[in-house]
This record gives sequence, structure tokens and C-alpha cells, in this order.
Amino acid sequence: MKTSFLFGKTTRETPSEAQIRSHQLMVRTSMIQSVASGIYSYMPLALRSMQKIEHIIREEIGNAGGQEVLLPTLHPVELWESTGRSEAFGDNLFRTKDRRNRGLVLAPTHEEVMTNLVKFNISSYRDLPIILYQIQTKFRDEPRPRAGLMRVREFDMKDAYSFDINSEGLDVSYQKMKQAYKNIFSRCGLSTIPVEADSGAIGGKDSQEFILPAESGEDLVLSCPNCEYAANVERAEGTIPSPPTQDQLPIKEVATPNQKTIPGLCKFLNIEPINTLKALFYTADGEIVFVVTRGDLEVNEIKLKNLLKVSDLRLANNTEVENKGLIAGSAGPMGIKNIKLVGDSSITKGSNFVIGANKHDFHLLNVNYERDFVVDILGDITKTEEGHGCPSCGGTLKEIRGIEVGHIFKLGTFFSEALGCLYLNDKGEQLPVHMGCYGIGVGRLLAAAIEQNHDDKGIIFPISIAPFHIHLVSLNTEKEEVVHQSNALYKDLTQTGYQVLYDDRAESPGVKLNDADLLGLPIRIITSNRNFNNDCAEVKLRNEKDSKIIPIKDISATIENILQTTG
Ligand code: ATP
Ligand code: MG
Repeated sequence: MKTSFLFGKTTRETPSEAQIRSHQLMVRTSMIQSVASGIYSYMPLALRSMQKIEHIIREEIGNAGGQEVLLPTLHPVELWESTGRSEAFGDNLFRTKDRRNRGLVLAPTHEEVMTNLVKFNISSYRDLPIILYQIQTKFRDEPRPRAGLMRVREFDMKDAYSFDINSEGLDVSYQKMKQAYKNIFSRCGLSTIPVEADSGAIGGKDSQEFILPAESGEDLVLSCPNCEYAANVERAEGTIPSPPTQDQLPIKEVATPNQKTIPGLCKFLNIEPINTLKALFYTADGEIVFVVTRGDLEVNEIKLKNLLKVSDLRLANNTEVENKGLIAGSAGPMGIKNIKLVGDSSITKGSNFVIGANKHDFHLLNVNYERDFVVDILGDITKTEEGHGCPSCGGTLKEIRGIEVGHIFKLGTFFSEALGCLYLNDKGEQLPVHMGCYGIGVGRLLAAAIEQNHDDKGIIFPISIAPFHIHLVSLNTEKEEVVHQSNALYKDLTQTGYQVLYDDRAESPGVKLNDADLLGLPIRIITSNRNFNNDCAEVKLRNEKDSKIIPIKDISATIENILQTTG
């Protein structure tokens, strides 16, 4: 492809709304153009890259036994209501109506339709296992679209679904898909870490996200430098620091005028947050609950939601708290009645805590779990933080920021039971199919690849997903003989089967070289006056500093060599 012909021009200006490098670079190289918040057009360079990613995905999912299908985008809303997910997705679901006023949704994912497809096409255990996948457009009305292709409202996802006769079968499919994911990311030239993730309301057994480490990422991961353990912060279950046990002392009430926060209280009493218990109030599916944790820890609302098995959870407002006769800022778990008490396991680790006295401006000293109060539900509901202990080997957890590029998930029988996707076993019994689902966002993967592979001059494309292998940059286009030489080389390279972007424009060398750095194709070949007479060209890899002068006749062999060694 000649640059003079290529649709889309590079720009010097960095768009003001583009906060992260991948977004800036994709706009500056004219890969994408914003249409509205979280909605993009993909231009030729982006599309070429995405098609390569899709090709790798198709090969690997195919190798894992996946068969490609294509399901519709428009789904009848009743199907989403039958699994309760119309409500669960809430405002994230794009809803529309047809001319007969029948409700439709623009699909954000395809478990329902895929389960129905399989339901009508299997009957017995002999028809299983099956893995089906598609690469298809998803719609999600994200509350905060951001960072270019990272979080958009319309995007292409590879979504795969496995169907097995039992949980052992599901384990096998899950492992196959996990391996396929590892292969996909490594073939795309990316380094990712599989981390344990929250399985959400559906409550499958296992769920893992593939996180690409990047400072600009939205996901926080706690990982252990000593072993394989890595988990999304939403899910991580590290061991918390425990203060030394002390003899339990008698309770004492103290005046704490105007001390309504843990830091204030600690300063006033000259103690540490680890010596206090804090009270928080939530409404959980409409019911007010009293949550108590140790003062040095933060509530993890996802863990709390999972422990309470509720779908709607938010902090209660002052009126709701007061209506229950509670005093925010001076509330404590002793003597509480008519309200569900939920405690974090940390409240059992430590002694002689300071708690609110349920009386304005008073606290109690030396309160101990079990001796002085108990909770209705006890569980791990606080955030694991950097420095906490690894649950697997006891090492010290470290925090890593990253981008979720893929997600694999054991669904179990949630959808097959809700939608009646059943099979007959060898005894003639009807049983629900065990399912898994597996997603990769194609555009997010491209953006994440750029986020991981760039320098201050531009993108450094991994060769497997670069829009072209070679950037042939012809300097001195004012010299007819250089143009001839470049044209011939371009023809030669393309005929050999390389994908070449040929900068044939009558621009200055500076502009062309900057553009080549910006776009970051893996191999750059420069033809110019300087090397014309000895029939040579300059070859440079985007990820290396130095270039080599190579005789034109040897260029093909050199490129072949590079492609073989870089994969
Ligand atoms: P997130 O937590 O980032 O919203 P998710 O858990 O909703 O992601 P899944 O439903 O598991 O994501 O979707 C599978 C994959 O689709 C994700 O791993 C990601 O690569 C991609 N993806 C999800 N939402 C978006 C989005 N709004 N924009 C771009 N890609 C997305
Ligand atoms: Mg999401």
C-alpha cells in the first residue's frame, strides 16, 4: 500500500481528551476516529491490525476445539428477562423496540442466545462436549467510556462458550480455553498474567482474567512475587496483619467530643486504626445492614455483596441510618438489635478495641469479639492490600495495575437451568449442561498492545499484529532514479509476500522518518540518494537503535531472517 493512497493522515496534535498513550497514538496515526463518546470508526490501519488479532484468535480457539458461529445482535428482551439479566445489566443494556412495540436489546454478551442455540441442537451426552465461538459486535452503555478503545460502548468481542456433561468436563474445556488464551496473547506479542477474578452474581466456581500490566490500566491486581498467586483486588484474599493478643480488659466509656472519623478518633485517643472497629451502613437489596470491620481496613463491596448474596448494594444515607435509631460517627456493634450485623473476620483478630458507644460523642474502650458482641454473618469483606500476606505461600503481596484483555469463567448450570438446556445421560436421565464462557475484546487488545509497546516517538508494533510488516520509506523523491529504485523494491517485496507500506510522498525526510517512528511498523527500509550509488538500502528495526546498510539484492533474505527470528 502506498502512503499517498492510504486513507487517513498522521497528525502532530495530540487530542486533548486522549489521556493515555495508546489513545493518543491511535488518533495521531489515524487508526480510529471518534463518532460519539465510546463509539469509534476504525480506519484501514486499525482494521488491518484487528483482523490479524482475529486471525490468531480463530486459529487458537479452533485448535482448542472451538467452532465458529455468528449470532444476532438484536435479542428479544423476554430472553434477557428469563435469566434475570435484563435487570442485572440495568442501564448498561441498550434497549430498543420494533415497529410492533416489542422490546429488544442490543446484545452486550451472548450467553442466553448461545444456550438456546445449543438447547435445540443437542439431545444426549453423545452430543457433548461442544465449544462454540463468534467474533461479534457487543453493545454496552458503559457509564464512563474512556481511553480510546479501552472502554467503549460498541466493540467486537470474541466470545466462546463451552458445553459439557458435568463439572469435570467443564474443567477440561476451561483448561483448554485457558491454554488457548495464553497462546493468543503470546502470539500477539503481549505479556499478560492470569489472575483470579470475581465470579459475580452468577457465582461460577472459577473465573480468571488476563491482565496486561500497564500504569494506565483500570484493574488492580495483588500478586505474590514468591509464587504463582495473583488475584484481582476485587477478589484477593490475603492474610491481614494481626496485632499481638492482649489480656481482655474491662469495658470503659470515654467522652470523644466531635470525633466521628477513625483518623480523628485515633489522634484524640493516641491509638492506631488497628485498635479500633469501624461501623458502616449499607442498604442491601433494600434492607439496612450494619457492617463492622477493623479500623485499619476498607470494605470491599464486591465481597460484601457476594457474602450477603444480594444484587443491589450501596452505602445508606444519613436519613436511612437515623431512621434505624443509629448514630453515624458514634455507632458501635454492641447492644444492636433489629438490624443485621455483618462483620469482617478481622474483628476477631485483635483485642480491646475502641468502638462507638451508640451515644453522641462517646466511645467504648476494651471491646472484644464474642465476650461483648457477636455478628449475624462473619466473613472476609475487606480489601486485600499491598503488604498483606499471600494466601497461598505467606509471601508479601504486591500491587500491580493493569488492563483486563480477556476473561474466562465457569458458569456452571446457571443458564442451562434457567433456559432448559438439558441432555440425556447414559441412564436416560435429563440433566443440565455445564457451561463456561470466554471473552476477549479485540479493540481493547489492540489498544493494550500499544500501551505495552511504545516509546516517546510512537508505537512499536509486535510483528504479528502490525498493520504491515515493512515501512519502505523513500527519501529524495525528487530524484527520479531513487523513485525507480524504490518502486522496484516495493514491487519485489510485495510480490515476495511481505506486507509493505510504501511512503512515496513528496515530503521532507524529517516528516517521513517521524511518521515511520510514530506508526511503528516493525521493519523500516530507507531508500535514498546516500545509498543509491552502491545499490544499498538502510534497514532498521523499530525496536532497535542501529540501522544496517544492506545491498538491495540481499534485502529479501535479510527480512526473511528477521521474520523468522522475531516470529
Ligand atoms: P470490564 O470489567 O473491563 O468492564 P467485563 O468484566 O465487563 O470487563 P467481560 O464481560 O468479561 O468484561 O468481557 C470480555 C472482554 O471484553 C473483556 O475482557 C474485555 O477485553 C472486553 N470488554 C469488556 N467491556 C468492554 C468495553 N466496554 N470496551 C472494550 N472492551 C470491553
Ligand atoms: Mg464491564
